[in-house]
Amino acid sequence: MGYSCGIDIGGTKIAGVLVDANLNVLLSRRALLTGKTPDSVVQEITSLVEYLTGGIEKSKLLGVGVVTPGIIDGDTGVVVYAANLGWRNVPIRDLVQRELDLPCFLEHDVRGGALAELFFGAGRAFANFLYVSVGTGIAGTIVWDRKVVRGSHNTSGEIGHTVVMPGGPVCRCGKRGCLEALASGSAMEREAWYLAGEKVEGSVIVERAKSGDPLFREILRNASFFLGLALANLAGTLDPEAILLGGGVSEAGEPWFRLVEEAYRMHLLNPESAPKLLLGAFRGRASVMGAAALPLLRALGS
Ligand SMILES: [Zn+2]
Repeated sequence: MGYSCGIDIGGTKIAGVLVDANLNVLLSRRALLTGKTPDSVVQEITSLVEYLTGGIEKSKLLGVGVVTPGIIDGDTGVVVYAANLGWRNVPIRDLVQRELDLPCFLEHDVRGGALAELFFGAGRAFANFLYVSVGTGIAGTIVWDRKVVRGSHNTSGEIGHTVVMPGGPVCRCGKRGCLEALASGSAMEREAWYLAGEKVEGSVIVERAKSGDPLFREILRNASFFLGLALANLAGTLDPEAILLGGGVSEAGEPWFRLVEEAYRMHLLNPESAPKLLLGAFRGRASVMGAAALPLLRALGS
């Protein structure tokens, strides 16, 4: 089989990977987004793909997968709404396809992460699981009978904006006390700003917590508590075989995961027969790996 390119468009950055047919990364690159208009993003994607695929024959490239947050219509390849880019109804798949003259596929970034786990990662072992990405924001994807559940309005699994603390901190969606406003990387950074009076990145918060700093341990513990609580609620509601965690915050690994697991078990109805809680295989790279998986899955007919 051939190769595939995956592109993850974030709020300020764009990441790309070139993978082989087994989703092994051969080359990767990250860049800052220089503009947010569809034209400038298409140009960024084009130059990233050209850089990544410079060493291979174009005929061996199965296509380019693109993922981004927001409301995505994967069937038509249209970004219906993306707050990070300020886009409404942008037919990004066709624009990229035209520019590169290659098959292009579009998916929601977290759904992409779920697909990567489902076909190439920790999700291979399960028919039904919930994939939850914890990064700057929080979002989830339900996989049932090995298929992604999209919902009636294409927004299934958007757990980040379920309220877990009425009257709590203001969320970027405008509501108060959303899970995202309490348990995401940006929520931890905001707490560090309030409590420590300094701007501290999420990875540094984890490092300081690991080294025993009580303030940062408390920040990590609080965020993990709300995530564990929300996951226990979902476990009871959906009863999947497993819940897989990914996203940038999951790069923190064990210290964070153990705290989430503790809170998860504390809130389960029946801990003896609960869904397994696991770290996914792709962690902070899940979305871009999911993007790269899209052309491979199409080629496999999945
Ligand atoms: Zn919210």
